[in-house]
Amino acid sequence: MDIQYDLIIIGGGPAGMTAAIYAGRAGLKVGMIEKEAPGGKMIKTDVICNYPGYTKVAGHTLSMNMFDHTQESGTEYLYGDIQKVEKIDDVMHITSADGQVFTSLAVIAATGTVERTLGFPEDDQLLGRGLSYCAVCDGAFYKQKEVLVIGGGNSALEEALYLTQFVDKVKLVIRRDVFRADVLVQKQVLDNPKIEVIKKHVPQGYVISDDGKLAGITFKNLETGELVDIDSHGCFPYIGADPATEYLKNLDILDKEGYIITDERMQTSIPGLFAAGDIIVKNLRQIVTAAGDGSIAAQEAFYYIQALKSKES
Ligand code: NAP
Repeated sequence: MDIQYDLIIIGGGPAGMTAAIYAGRAGLKVGMIEKEAPGGKMIKTDVICNYPGYTKVAGHTLSMNMFDHTQESGTEYLYGDIQKVEKIDDVMHITSADGQVFTSLAVIAATGTVERTLGFPEDDQLLGRGLSYCAVCDGAFYKQKEVLVIGGGNSALEEALYLTQFVDKVKLVIRRDVFRADVLVQKQVLDNPKIEVIKKHVPQGYVISDDGKLAGITFKNLETGELVDIDSHGCFPYIGADPATEYLKNLDILDKEGYIITDERMQTSIPGLFAAGDIIVKNLRQIVTAAGDGSIAAQEAFYYIQALKSKES
């Protein structure tokens, strides 16, 4: 059987791209499959302030720099929305939604996480009609308006700050009375006169205008139990994320939340299947930890492939 690649990396975020750089430099034939632009969440981030060597770098710039680096080390960039990974004998078969099957000796799964929706019936209907999960993509549509940001983690606070360059006001709504984000970002938010923090309110549903657009969000005030509508033509929920591991559900490698279980070498329980980045069980989900995972996974995949090739020859 003609095996197309030594290594296929699924996902082109910082974990996948770092793995591609290392694997390419080790001389492997690498294919990196992505269904969007390279960069993952990085490319949707305005400014990154905690990647070593950069006090401030645009998410887009870091994404493109990493991508150029993968191209320099010979990675083939492939399009595909992967639905299934199967290991048959020693060959990995990676199937995309359009029926393409890619084959390789090893796989690194690095598809990260997907934003959690508010979970209301109109989640899909309102997307692009006032509801957005990407301030960098859609923020400019709300010039001189008021918008809502929901959530108290790093994503919510950083995106609220980003939005203040366009909008007149951001109402940042959190369900507890404390944030989850880093202290430095909290301070920037609290010092920003355009941001009003509303505590102890949880979203209950959308307020929709007659023309089918978002008009606001209904919240429950957790102190009084009262329901309140907060008017807004733009809402950006940043309430966490879930692992993008649907295509691996047939394999027994996920924990109960759907994250991939690996050892410290980024190996799953299936020889030849490695994982890296936000998708794995870990405590700190950052660009720098994703990059670290990617380098380890690539090195371990290299050893695995070498052993496989020497067994066959
Ligand atoms: P997160 O840290 O999990 O925060 C989610 C926030 O949403 C929390 O404030 C949570 O409230 C709130 N929330 C969850 N469900 C909710 C609901 N149904 N209604 C209202 N609020 C709800 O998620 P994240 O900000 O997306 O970050 C994900 C990971 O990426 C984290 O590890 C984060 O540190 C990392 N990250 C890092 C950076 C950076 O270093 N610059 C930037 C972005 C993300 P509770 O606090 O009450 O649970």
